[in-house]
Amino acid sequence: MNSPPISFVACPSYQGATLLSLILNNHSELAALGDTLPERQHMDYFCSCGERIENCDFWTELARVTGAEAYALEATLLPLRPRLVHHELTNKLLNRLVHGDRFISRSAYGLVAGRFEQYQSTFDLFAGAVCDLLGKKHFIDGTKYLHRLFVLAKTRPERTINCIHLLRDPRGFVLSCKNNLPEPGDLKKSAREWRQYHYRTLQLCTELPNIRHLSVRYEDLCDSPTEQIQRILGFIGVRDEELLTAPRLPHHIIGNRMLREFHGAIEKDEKWRRVLEQREQAEILRLTSPYADVFRYSEI
Ligand SMILES: [Zn+2]
Repeated sequence: MNSPPISFVACPSYQGATLLSLILNNHSELAALGDTLPERQHMDYFCSCGERIENCDFWTELARVTGAEAYALEATLLPLRPRLVHHELTNKLLNRLVHGDRFISRSAYGLVAGRFEQYQSTFDLFAGAVCDLLGKKHFIDGTKYLHRLFVLAKTRPERTINCIHLLRDPRGFVLSCKNNLPEPGDLKKSAREWRQYHYRTLQLCTELPNIRHLSVRYEDLCDSPTEQIQRILGFIGVRDEELLTAPRLPHHIIGNRMLREFHGAIEKDEKWRRVLEQREQAEILRLTSPYADVFRYSEI
């Protein structure tokens, strides 16, 4: 099976990734599955098609074609990260240690290159199967897991990956964390998370020459969707189509409440403007500097 062209959506949570998946999957050539992979513990969650994941024909067939039962150790239906060692926590730690060109020496890369290759093959099989099952040509990875982007770009330097870097005002992100997480972290922790994710995205796109970068602000996507979608489609290299419609079949997207709410119109969520105090807003902008300034969030 040939590996399809790949685009990767890079953003932390609450930046509009589910919305972007729904829009892009409406394109006749693009396959997007939302911003996560099904978790083995939660196969009773709903897919956008209306079925539970465990009963959805698409996810069932995808698991069969990709031999997902071979990855029973993994928390997700298909591996999110390369399996370097059996022990899960050690595996997470080792993957963190070998992330980024600045930190991985040639000799260290030699030790993990075989596992990275294996992971790449698993990913290619997965992306190819998704496109085949949906009748599409180009795979949009929405997992947002930057180590995945790093491994894919590092292992195949000859393959270009498009990185759609999605950003939302850090004040909106902090408020969403506060409202949605079971144990909300404090303002400082969320602001630093926003800063760290965007810093790492820019760092990866700079370090690895085969990653192309396009930044898209959630606010611009809401204010001028047609123009922003044209930018994204031009960047990916597919023809312009009308994508602001209710989800077109086939769609098997996993994500947040947008799956039920999106019918083609985009509503901008800026509750942070009235909920956060001026003092909190100023603190968030300070903690997310200089990226809040670079992406023009300190101007509004
Ligand atoms: Zn489905």
